Amino acid sequence: MKDCIFCKIVKGEIPSKKIYEDDLCMAYLDINPDTDGHTLIIPKEHYEDIYELPNDVLKHIFDVSKKLMNELKDKLNCTGHTLMINYGSSQEVKHFHMHIKPQYKDKKFVEFIKHKELLKDTNKVHEMIKED
Ligand code: AMP
Ligand code: ZN
Repeated sequence: MKDCIFCKIVKGEIPSKKIYEDDLCMAYLDINPDTDGHTLIIPKEHYEDIYELPNDVLKHIFDVSKKLMNELKDKLNCTGHTLMINYGSSQEVKHFHMHIKPQYKDKKFVEFIKHKELLKDTNKVHEMIKED
């Protein structure tokens, strides 16, 4: 879709810190992370939200999310994850996306959101987790 920022990321018209890509989807770091390694997984095709997204693509995005959760655990030493999908008035960008928010046992999630200065530099995080 013409003015969609996530479609522009798929086409390479807007830069992203990509960590995964296949025929159906891609994953990159959130530009305004809530935790270190906060990742978005999107379908390459434009679907506005979870209701528009075909179930087979949703399943694929869940499969990729599980694979990335494992990889992030190894690369970032996180102790858990929060998977999240916003919809309706909670959804800011109207191109479906799954959030993976790695969690760290020594840092409470709420503290992370309130004290963003605790986060690592995203360039450093990207170096740690991007595909070899
Ligand atoms: P949501 O409220 O679920 O629609 O969240 C949209 C997310 O997209 C937010 O966490 C934003 O920080 C993130 N975001 C917006 N623009 C970009 C961008 N250009 N690259 C990466 N993440 C983005
Ligand atoms: Zn789009």
